[in-house]
Formats: sequence, structure tokens, C-alpha cells
Amino acid sequence: MPELPEAETIARGLNRVLPGRVVSSVTVLREDVVDGPPHRFAEAVAGRRFGTTARRGKNVVLTFEDATRVVVNLGMTGRLVPGTGPGPGPGSTHPAVLFQFTDGGSLTYDDVRRFGRLRHLPSSDWTRWSRRLGPEPLARSFTGARLRRILSRSRSPVRSLLLDQRRIAGVGNIYAVEACWFAGIHPRTPANLIGEVSATRLHRSLRRVLRRAVEAGGTTLRNYRAPDGNEGRFRRALHAYGREGRPCPRCRAVIERIVFGGRSAFVCPRCQPGPEDGAATMGDVC
Ligand SMILES: [Zn+2]
Repeated sequence: MPELPEAETIARGLNRVLPGRVVSSVTVLREDVVDGPPHRFAEAVAGRRFGTTARRGKNVVLTFEDATRVVVNLGMTGRLVPGTGPGPGPGSTHPAVLFQFTDGGSLTYDDVRRFGRLRHLPSSDWTRWSRRLGPEPLARSFTGARLRRILSRSRSPVRSLLLDQRRIAGVGNIYAVEACWFAGIHPRTPANLIGEVSATRLHRSLRRVLRRAVEAGGTTLRNYRAPDGNEGRFRRALHAYGREGRPCPRCRAVIERIVFGGRSAFVCPRCQPGPEDGAATMGDVC
């Protein structure tokens, strides 16, 4: 599932090809991926000229020069594929929406499982939509103090809090699990029990994991591809996620898989003692 680094990689890739190009027509091939009536979506987007594509949380935000936007939530398997011809772009097997350009090129929204969603937003609706999401974890304004405040207000397991897009935008399971491992925090630890030292370490870990994943072009587990068709290279850099039964890169204890909140988490039992071990704030005592 695309998270912040994957959406960021996609936005950067699209910025190499989209700015200045004009949409001549939009064909909605799969009605369930657009918000509202398909003909209205198509009419709203046709004729607009692309500005700079951005990212908000896990969403790719196609921005037009008139400040209207198409917010693309990629769901599980959504992809944005630029093409040089009028048909679906290279490697598109499940085209769902086809944007054709006046210069003959195209952009295909492809989605095998169709959990993704595209919505066109005038600029005032965009502001309202964006405000519902939490802060961007890579923004300069996302300080350690800010994360400590967010943690202190919740008794949820810290992994669940990190996944809650209304509190922090863009973090999904892969990077939440990795950040907890780096910080030596059990993902089940109630957020408000995390002490100041551990919270500071979590802040640093989260930003470092996300920044490195952006540099690696994201993580490909199955479907994710950058707009140029390349896989993300961060999978090789995972320390805990998906490494059940393998040694912890830090202490060699065996990584365990646990399930809570309906999702897997991966923990080192030595580096990340559970909250029930009474060691949620181990960093604060040493
Ligand atoms: Zn360990």
C-alpha cells in the first residue's frame, strides 16, 4: 500500500512530465474510482493545464494552474502511468481513468483492486479537505515537541496513533513498524505512556525512516511502481517489517510478528520490550 515515500516518489516523477500539459479529455473506465458522477469528474478536469504535482499524506495531488486539484488516493494498488500515446500508458493492465492531453500524450490511473479514489476539488474545498489531515511528518514544523503533544493526548497503541491520518499524515504500517523498531518502542505501547526521551527518539526515527525511503524511491512489496516503472529500493533497507523469524539487525534476537488492530506488526522482543513488561519507557532510565 503506497505510503508517504511512495506518494512523494510518484509526485516527483510526474513533475518531470506533467507541468504545462493540457488535458483534452478524460475517460472514466471504472466508475467506482471517481468521486461523484463520472461525467461530472471528466467535465471538471478537461481543458485544465497542469502545474506542479504535490503530495499530502499518502495522496498524490495533481494540481492545475487554476489551483483546482485532483486528489488521488492510491488505495492498495493504484498507479499513475504517463504515456506518449493516446491509449493506456506502458504496463497499464487495469486502466481505470484515462487523461488525454492536447499534445497526444496521456496519463493513466491504473488500479487492479480499485480501492483507490480520485476526486476533483476546487481550491476552497481543497483547503477544507487538507485540514482534516494531521501534520506532515517531514515538514520543518513537525518538531519533537509537536509529536510529544500528539502522543500525550492518546491512550491508543503508538502504532495505531502513527497510522491515524488525522493525527499524522502519510505514515502507514511499514514505516510505523520501522520507526518503532529504530526507537526501541514496542508498537503496542500506549502513546501517552511514552516518555520524553523515547518520544524524541521516535520523532527522529520516524523522520529518518521516511527520508531514507523517499531517497530510495519508496518500498515495493508487490504492486507499487514509480511513474517510470521502477520498483522502490527501500525493501532491502527494512530492519523489522516483514522479517519475522530473522535476526534483529541490532541485537540478533529473533524478530516476532504480532497482530493487533487487524494488522501485523514486527518487533524485536529484546530491543522493544512490551508495555506489559513495564518497560515502555526503557530509554528514560538508561
Ligand atoms: Zn533487537
